[in-house]
Amino acid sequence: MTLVFEDTVVFEELTVTGYEKVIKVSDKKSKLQAIISLHNTTLGPALGGTRIYPYTTFDAALNDVLRLSKGMTYKSALAETGYGGGKSVIIADPAVHKTPELLRAFGRAVDRLGGEYICAEDVGCTTADMMMVREETPYVVGLVHDKSSGDPSPFTAWGTFRGIQAVLKKTCGNESVQDRVVAVQGLGSVGAKLLEYLFWAGAHLIITDIDPVRMEKLARRYGAKTCLPEEIYDVECDVFAPCAMGGVINPKTASRLRCKAVAGCANNVLLHDSDSDELMQKGILYAPDFVINSGGLINVVQELDEEGYCPSPPRQKIHNIFDKLMDIFDIADQNHFSTHAAAVALGDYRLKYKVGKRVIAPYFHHSFV
Ligand code: NAD
Repeated sequence: MTLVFEDTVVFEELTVTGYEKVIKVSDKKSKLQAIISLHNTTLGPALGGTRIYPYTTFDAALNDVLRLSKGMTYKSALAETGYGGGKSVIIADPAVHKTPELLRAFGRAVDRLGGEYICAEDVGCTTADMMMVREETPYVVGLVHDKSSGDPSPFTAWGTFRGIQAVLKKTCGNESVQDRVVAVQGLGSVGAKLLEYLFWAGAHLIITDIDPVRMEKLARRYGAKTCLPEEIYDVECDVFAPCAMGGVINPKTASRLRCKAVAGCANNVLLHDSDSDELMQKGILYAPDFVINSGGLINVVQELDEEGYCPSPPRQKIHNIFDKLMDIFDIADQNHFSTHAAAVALGDYRLKYKVGKRVIAPYFHHSFV
């Protein structure tokens, strides 16, 4: 079914089994090509970031948005946010094609969904970009104004730090990061902040990034050792923290790892669900991505409370990512399955019995911008 709106944004609904709504969005005028995926809204409206990335094919973009939106369903269910899982991708090179017209056309597409989908910044996108989207729709979080939660990255990084403490507790018997070796892949908004937290907690750091200038700068600041991006899988460390793109744990890389645990902020760390079994067989503890990286989501949804944003409730919840992971490790041990399977089972239970379903509609602070 193709619906054409006056504003030149075109919606084409795609049928994808297991997903509530997947929409191909295009706008000739602004050259927008995007996909919005609403995976599951059992617990509340779908919420998830907008990724701007130069996918080489439409199928690659579709595959990414489907995996990411499904991950958001589980992330939200386990973080008890009262939101569902959604995500969007804009097929464009953010360095070249990210124009105000493109962002505004995307905003109009989000607005057409009437609040079924709430977007936020993601890779290739900034909070300033979201302000542009906000000019067309109220259904955006993570904005730059004084009643907003701002950049989610430091909160994601703190949740990831707590997750690293949890895997250390499980694998080494205590949660101290002091003198532990942590290898961090990707030194962007979250990775760089995580480095700062790890540095002050006394960790020894091995870092890599495809941007050598950034890597050298951060290596000097935190006294970290560096390696080439491809070498990070071979370094001996206590924790490998993937903080770049997804799919980095796969049959090729899993066999090379020399760490006790994998715990990082990247979404879709596993290429296939079964890769977590391979980690388990190797005795490597895996902190499920949609649990350890939920700090930014926990923080940003606070914006939609009627009273507006306040950092204290999310701070406590993010701190508790440690306990949530310890519970998941216990469930996995008791049932003899992987930590990823344990987290998915917990999410499925919450979806089936509607645990944490939203009862009060989100509050969009229309007058704030
Ligand atoms: P970012 O774009 O700011 O940083 C990514 C970094 O990874 C960049 O420095 C980039 O150069 C580097 N990189 C890319 N490919 C690499 C490779 N092959 N090897 C080494 N480095 C590489 O992104 P971010 O906001 O820091 O997010 C990082 C990851 O965390 C993403 O997977 C994102 O989806 C996920 N995540 C982010 C948040 C958040 O709050 N920003 C929340 C949840 C999950």
